[in-house]
This record gives sequence, C-alpha cells and structure tokens, in this order.
Amino acid sequence: MQYQWYPGHMTKAKRQMQEDIKLVDLVIELVDARIPISSHNPDIDTLGRQKSRMVLLNKADLADEAKNQAWCDYYKKQGIFAVRLDARNRGGMKDVQSVIQDACREKIERNLKRGIINRPVRAMVAGIPNVGKSTFINSFAGKACAKTGNKPGVTKGKQWIRLNKQVELLDTPGILWPKFENQIIGMHLAYIGSIRDEIVNREELAFELLKELLERYPGLLADRFALSAAQTPLEALEQVAKNRNCLKKGGELDTEKAAAMLLEEFRSGKLGRITMEEPRDRADVSMDDQ
Ligand code: GDP
Repeated sequence: MQYQWYPGHMTKAKRQMQEDIKLVDLVIELVDARIPISSHNPDIDTLGRQKSRMVLLNKADLADEAKNQAWCDYYKKQGIFAVRLDARNRGGMKDVQSVIQDACREKIERNLKRGIINRPVRAMVAGIPNVGKSTFINSFAGKACAKTGNKPGVTKGKQWIRLNKQVELLDTPGILWPKFENQIIGMHLAYIGSIRDEIVNREELAFELLKELLERYPGLLADRFALSAAQTPLEALEQVAKNRNCLKKGGELDTEKAAAMLLEEFRSGKLGRITMEEPRDRADVSMDDQ
C-alpha cells in the first residue's frame, strides 16, 4: 500500500506542536476508541515527556463497549488517566472535567505549596487528524471556538479557553500525523478512513477488514450478511455482494461496490460497535514510554 501525506503540512504541524507544548502542563491525547494503538502517534511520548498526560478514547460510541472498558482498565494500570468519550455529545464531559482535575492535581498542589495561587493549569489537546479534536474542544468549551472539519486547524494566535478557575485549555489542538510503523497499523487507519480512499485499493482493504472481522466478530457478519464463519474473506466479500445485490451489468458480482458499501457501513457504525485492537494486541507495538 502507498500513503501520501503532504510533508510541508506535517513539518509545520510538528513544529507548531513543539512550540505549543512548551506552554502547557497537561497533554490531553485523543485516540480513536476503535483502534487505540494505531491512532496513537508515539512521538507524543517524547514531546510530552515532561508533562502530565491523559488519554480520551474518542468515538467510543462506534467502539465495542466491553473493549472500551478493557482499554480504560489497561490505561489505569499503566498509571494513565483515561476516559471514553463521544465528543459530539456533551454528556460525557463531566467525567473529563474531573479527570483533568485529577491529572493536574500534582501541579495544582505544587503551585499551592509554592504560594502560587492564581495560576491556572494549562492543557492542550493533541491527536491525529480526524480523531475529533475540534469537536471535543467545541463541546467541551460549550461554544463554537474551534473550527470543526476534516482539515488541520488554521487558527492563528494563542487563545485560551477557561474551563474553570484552575484549568485553561489551548483552543488550537496539536496535530500529530499517524505513524505507519507496520502494515497492520496502516491497514487499521485505512479501515476508519484516516487514509484517503483514492490511494488505497478498496477491495483489498475490504478483504482485510473481512478477514479480521471473521476472527473478531464472526456473529456480527453472519447476522448482517447471512454468511458463515467458515467462509474465506474472498467468499465473504462475494456474499456481501450477493446479499446487497451488488451486480454488474452482465449479472456478475460487483465486489468493488460491495467493498465500498462494507467500508462505509463499518465507518459509520451501521455494522455495529466494533473495536479492532485490544490491549493484548499491544505486545508487538511499543508505546511503553508513556
Ligand atoms: P479533528 O481533525 O481531530 O479536529 O476532528 P474533527 O473534530 O473535525 O472530527 C472529525 C469527524 O469525526 C467529524 O465528522 C466529527 O463529527 C466526527 N466525530 C468527532 N467526535 C466523534 C465521536 O465521538 N463519535 C463519532 N461518531 N463521531 C465523532
């Protein structure tokens, strides 16, 4: 598979983040709850070394609830503050507030001991494109102060959003580009649509997705497309085409159309709440310097 990013954007975003991170005490990293390993850029471990850290498992509404819980337990064991979240829904924000407070407690106490009373703890949001950073900042601040969309942030100048007396949030998120450390990470990012579809082969991608789904969620596929777990990924893709009546003009199965349909259903959550990575999958992917 080939990936194409814009090196200029990447360098600029990284430089910006290096500057911004100096201004804050806490880094709030958003990862995609469906793929917490692949949507984590390990650069943040280096960039945020001196900082308090917390993780938001965003788009948790699209992910498997049992696995959301497993990830929260995992992070907790690692001593990392974590919250699962649907950034579009303001309801989940109360938890975030209190966890930010917990994550900053040391800093707040240290300030108090030094007699520094009126200095709020400063935080910034960071994560790969499209993970929900702007949506989170908007919902969290309760007003439209960050631009949402699929493009990296463009806000100029530093603006701070006062969350309460003790915490301020930088209104521009830090953008980290995903890191393709291995084929699986690239594939998982493509499943969620983090890589533009024009540069990946959709049928190949759908094939890989089916292969993993047959292992991880066989029942789900059986129910939705009337296919059996015994089927190979290729047979499964053909079954999706049959089940959805994806046919070419001559009556031949249109597996390309079926592939596009499957990917859309996965990305939008129509296929169900699915998580493609579990804490135990982390064995071969190191994020241990967190
Ligand atoms: P950013 O590039 O990280 O700032 O991402 P955005 O905030 O622009 O969000 C990218 C897309 O994800 C938008 O279409 C949002 O509506 C959607 N989104 C953000 N958070 C969530 C979430 O928790 N759940 C779901 N289902 N979609 C979300």
